[in-house]
Amino acid sequence: MGVPDPTKELVNKKGIRLDGRKTTEIRPITIKAGILHRADGSAYLEWGSNKVICGVYGPRELNPRRFQESDKAVVQVRYNMAAFSTSDRKRPGPDRRSQEIGKVIADAFENVVLTERFPRGAIDVHVDILEANAGTRCAALVCAAVALADAGIPMKGLVSAVAAGKANDKVILDLDQMEDNYGNADLPIGINHTSGEIVLLQMDGHLTPAQFDEALDMAVEGNKQVLVAQREALLARFATTLAAKEAAGAFDEPEPSNEPERAERNERRGPPREGGRGGDRRGGDDRRGGGDRRGPPRGGDRRGGGR
Ligand code: ADP
Repeated sequence: MGVPDPTKELVNKKGIRLDGRKTTEIRPITIKAGILHRADGSAYLEWGSNKVICGVYGPRELNPRRFQESDKAVVQVRYNMAAFSTSDRKRPGPDRRSQEIGKVIADAFENVVLTERFPRGAIDVHVDILEANAGTRCAALVCAAVALADAGIPMKGLVSAVAAGKANDKVILDLDQMEDNYGNADLPIGINHTSGEIVLLQMDGHLTPAQFDEALDMAVEGNKQVLVAQREALLARFATTLAAKEAAGAFDEPEPSNEPERAERNERRGPPREGGRGGDRRGGDDRRGGGDRRGPPRGGDRRGGGR
């Protein structure tokens, strides 16, 4: 938040903002999942003029061992603003702000990722802001959620975030740089869409209790719009994968001539053992293939080809 300037007209009398948006409108948002081939999961996001890229690695064994948690994995988020992401060159490297943002995003995911499935493990989320125009912590979280889903990390739900705030004494949604610099309040809010829980809430500036309620309602509605973009990205990503598998014949019916032979074999073998190789080995929402069967997570690239 910059220094509020009440003389600047950021929202006109008709409730229209400098970039033509209504007070309840978010900036256009597009997301693409699975854009990096070496990361376990990835996403690229454009939200207004924010541009964000995210790569996820893991789950892997956390080293050094003293940082391991015996009953769960640790989610580590590194938020980085590129030197060329702002109009004044940003000094490269970590600073207090980037550490704070990395921590609040990690805290938001800590409750959503099923970390108990990967004891002693680490899930690394690397977010790079290529271009910044306010709202980058929300953009980073939104992009990271898609990248985590792309990596097949089991989660209780999809998480999104958007800021509400205040300019010229009017409550507005998804502040841009001018509104962030010269407005009166900035209230980023992250939501787990499955449980409805708020997983991130920070505030700069000042709001009356009534304005806070209005901003909260506005952010909840805004989060629903962001979720649509996240779902579209994941559907597009996995539709491509499914189409490729289909083309390769992965879903073809088996040759009818083999059927009697197979039935006879199964009869001799008896019923499938519980938890054995005969059942659905994918284990609920864990698309990576039964985290429980793998034992402690390993390092390295475990996805194999096809990415
Ligand atoms: P958020 O990006 O989540 O809104 P802030 O409110 O801290 O976080 O920052 C608002 C905006 O100010 C950023 O999106 C970015 O455009 C700009 N900004 C932040 N830090 C710097 C910096 N060190 N140098 C230049 N611009 C910055």
